[in-house]
Amino acid sequence: MAIRVQFWGAARTVTGSSHHLECAGRNILLDCGLFQGRRREAREINMNFALPPEEVSAIVLSHAHIDHSGNLPGFVREGYRGPIYATPATIDLCDPMLKDSAHVQESEVEFIRKRARRKLSIGRDGAIDQPVDPLYSTEDAAATIGLFRPMQLHERQALNGSTATEGFAVTPYGAGHMLGSTCVLMEGTENGKTTRVLFSGDVGRASLPIIKDPESAPAADYLIMESTYGNRLHQPIGPVKNKLAALIKRTVQRGGHIVMPAFAVGRSQQVVMMLHELIREKKIPELPVYLDSPLATSVTQVFEKHTEEWDAELAALAQQTTPFAWKHMIYTQTVQESKALNQMHVPFIVISASGMCEAGRVLHHLRNSISDPRNLILLTGYQAENTLGRRLERREPEVRIFGEWMRLRAEVDSIGELSGHADQKELLDWMEPVTKTLKKVFLVHGEPEAQQELKAEIEKRYRLPVEIPARGDQYVLE
Ligand SMILES: [Zn+2]
Repeated sequence: MAIRVQFWGAARTVTGSSHHLECAGRNILLDCGLFQGRRREAREINMNFALPPEEVSAIVLSHAHIDHSGNLPGFVREGYRGPIYATPATIDLCDPMLKDSAHVQESEVEFIRKRARRKLSIGRDGAIDQPVDPLYSTEDAAATIGLFRPMQLHERQALNGSTATEGFAVTPYGAGHMLGSTCVLMEGTENGKTTRVLFSGDVGRASLPIIKDPESAPAADYLIMESTYGNRLHQPIGPVKNKLAALIKRTVQRGGHIVMPAFAVGRSQQVVMMLHELIREKKIPELPVYLDSPLATSVTQVFEKHTEEWDAELAALAQQTTPFAWKHMIYTQTVQESKALNQMHVPFIVISASGMCEAGRVLHHLRNSISDPRNLILLTGYQAENTLGRRLERREPEVRIFGEWMRLRAEVDSIGELSGHADQKELLDWMEPVTKTLKKVFLVHGEPEAQQELKAEIEKRYRLPVEIPARGDQYVLE
């Protein structure tokens, strides 16, 4: 016997990534992500960890996205004080991201409390949303940052509590999914026998702006792989810049402005860099560009700092100019600056979060823009079911913003080509070098349909056994 694995999060779903590995009495967690979904269900899941914090000797974090890192402060609140291993870029990204996540939860609780008080004051009974404590506070997020320990690409290190002959060692490889993202090779040694488990984290794609391409996967005995787009093929990335230029030019010619809802981390920076390139190449006019998201602004500074993560295109741009700063690039900070954009009467571009238009400053910009056919709403990523972003993508004739029904007259388009997740073909190609030594594949981080289709493809192409574990399922990896 060598390693025991229990799947705890992102099992038959795409959120709340977390898996428990045990070897020679050492317990570690791969990721500790926040489950995002309906409030009550999410709370229940996020408050239940695979095991008590005092029994966990180390956590290995694949990358900074909240569905992988966002429940770390919750575990710290429960009492976890051990190390969290991550790349230097991931550590720097987690600082603003976890604090922002805590702030979002504190605000949500404040909203629920206010609503409960209002219901009480007008004499209605029951129906008070419970409970009223945030999952974690900004103090918990700050305490989490102090537990991080850097891991360097391709460098093998024994984890806390393990020795050279017993327990776990980790070696990270670049995943090409976001700044700092990795897949990690976990080696568990017990009674002189070593078992290798490769955890894919989220697998990225070649040619994404800013970040390097995914690295070739190392040999392993077992593979735990994501399957987000296990049943889809993406549009090629190549033409996306020209498409962006054409959309902007058309909007400017008719005197409209452009609202780009974008995820604060990754997508916003990719869009800013592409706009700078297009302006320098004179493919679009020099109109003002606003990044209206304090989190995106903090994260851009992390992108500027971690030059080791940049691809050749960004490094070349940086030789000639400051990639994320130019005369007409404005990073707004205050709410007043954000609101002032509503009074602008010349064409401009505003990039703002959230990417699926569910919350945040982008809602104000949409309210101010969607009724005018001269304007363009340019979606930049995946839009989940039941989000305002999906309704805009579908061009529903009327949508509700801040409780008010509004006619959708603006043009809506999308540059979904920038997806950070490998599609079916890219996942199959990525795992190919590992298949020679693999005994079994476990699919995680995907909806059941995507997982079933990918499982069939892996079985057909590589003749390997594939499992699709549910939350709580355990396996012995020998
Ligand atoms: Zn991710």
